[in-house]
Amino acid sequence: MLFLEGGHPFVRSKQKKSSRVVFHFGISVLNSLILYFAPSSHLYAAAQLTQSHAFGFASALGLHGWTEVILTLIVFDCWDYWMHRANHRIGLLWRFHKVHHSDTEIDVTTASRFHIGELLITNSIKGALILVWGPSLSGVVAFETFLTAASQFHHSNLDIPPNSQDRLEKVIVTPRMHRCHHVFEGGCRMSNYATVLSLWDRLFGTYHWAEKTIELEPIGVSRPRGPETMKCIPLFLTPFQSV
Ligand SMILES: [Zn+2]
Repeated sequence: MLFLEGGHPFVRSKQKKSSRVVFHFGISVLNSLILYFAPSSHLYAAAQLTQSHAFGFASALGLHGWTEVILTLIVFDCWDYWMHRANHRIGLLWRFHKVHHSDTEIDVTTASRFHIGELLITNSIKGALILVWGPSLSGVVAFETFLTAASQFHHSNLDIPPNSQDRLEKVIVTPRMHRCHHVFEGGCRMSNYATVLSLWDRLFGTYHWAEKTIELEPIGVSRPRGPETMKCIPLFLTPFQSV
């Protein structure tokens, strides 16, 4: 995506691309290290536990093989939609999720920009969902892979013709659909929460079709704004500051 959006950008970046890559990749590496040691993040261990003890809805329904993997993808993608919606509607969750939205530009590197607090909360709830649904290890790995690929695609600054986005958007979340979600206050931020399938926004009444390019600018939040959005310590402290 980095290569593709570099060749065909939708919006010319005002920031140095190399700085964005280093900063966001650095955050991602740090977060991954913390998550590796956090007990709430042992999602694969949770999946192995449910499999070896055959508990959870997937086992109760007798699901296995491809049927189980595909249903796990659908169930987890739907959960991810509601988790993202909660991140915007619940004050405490928004404090952490705001760090992701404080990026004043949007490209594939934005997909790596998350506060560790948000990741820890999300992974704890996802761990509980694994224990309830009881997916296979393949199901969890497939979901995490799709989630990452979809997130990198819809955050990208890739210039895709509007009619192609219209067609894609009938099934999956497109860069235009998600860019609209990142627009400054007053825009369509309280819409387009889905990650992989655009179906969830249509189904639950939060879909916004960004017909005009004017709806896709400016990006970010009112506070923080400016140079501090690309500095580690201010970014880490953002959730703990008065709104
Ligand atoms: Zn959001």
